[in-house]
Amino acid sequence: MKIIDIIKSGKPLLSMEVFPPKTNDTFETVKEATEKIALLKPDFMSVTYGAGGGTSEYTAFIAENTEKNYGVTALAHLSCISSKKEDIKNQLDLLKSKGIENILALRGDIPDGMSKECLDYHYASELTREIKEYGHFCVGGACYPESHPESATSFDDIRFLKEKVDAGCEFLTTQMFFDNNILYNFLYRIREAGINVPVVAGIMPVTNPKSIKRICAISGMALPQRFIRIVDRFGSSPEQMTQAGIAYATEQIVDLYANGVNAVHLYTMNKPEVAKRIKDNISSIIE
Ligand code: FAD
Repeated sequence: MKIIDIIKSGKPLLSMEVFPPKTNDTFETVKEATEKIALLKPDFMSVTYGAGGGTSEYTAFIAENTEKNYGVTALAHLSCISSKKEDIKNQLDLLKSKGIENILALRGDIPDGMSKECLDYHYASELTREIKEYGHFCVGGACYPESHPESATSFDDIRFLKEKVDAGCEFLTTQMFFDNNILYNFLYRIREAGINVPVVAGIMPVTNPKSIKRICAISGMALPQRFIRIVDRFGSSPEQMTQAGIAYATEQIVDLYANGVNAVHLYTMNKPEVAKRIKDNISSIIE
């Protein structure tokens, strides 16, 4: 099923993100975690893709497994910065042959020291346009309520986002954020800029404060004082932090639904038990 049709049904929906194994050694553990998450029956499940293409086959495999054996629509991520045109064509053929109908088209992070001279792709909009020309796929893209870290200004970021949508992006999934007002402000600004596609709000339940502080430092995301106090108070106890992180994410999600943001995406970090507890917390709202 095309994800745009799932989103357009208008009901409050919850999708979940998993990442595929990076090596053969972790294959079974990761496969098991993604299967447990598929059993939670999210409205769709997205499967990330390594920037260097290292997990490209695993992405296709996990996406196919999710659809064929668990009946959950899959969204295969695909990044282009390290790829040649031929690699992308092969990946599209592979995904199509596995029955995948949805792709999140991404640029990917630019590897250190990479020369931009000989690249086949520079931005996700180029990949988006190419996939739409290929046909068959519903295409989504990433967006950044607090701006992409490489953008000089938030105005530039929204201008280029509009180009990506005009290239054929049918929906957008946001980077995680920890203050819903940031998302509401972003939605207002992109609608003003003429971006009218559905936006799926990305929520990360924080269970590991060290990693979130690192991610925020790299990506320029703000951690609200309310959240920092929770981390300061409970961060040294994994049990307490997990419970507090689940409660915080649940509150964000309920507020989003209450304010008409019907599509929410959970960054599960491959933790089925955390995803389950959040889904249980909102079961009456989404069922
Ligand atoms: P783009 O949309 O191309 O934007 C990148 C930057 O270029 C932005 O600053 C933008 O404003 C600017 N820009 C765009 N067009 C132009 C233009 N014409 N001229 C000048 N500047 C321009 N990474 C992975 O490797 N694998 C994944 O599976 C993955 N999944 C993700 C899922 C989500 C929901 C999100 C939010 C991110 C994900 N990422 C993933 C990370 C992503 O690849 C990085 O954030 C990357 O740096 C940007 O990718 P993009 O597709 O947003 O790029």
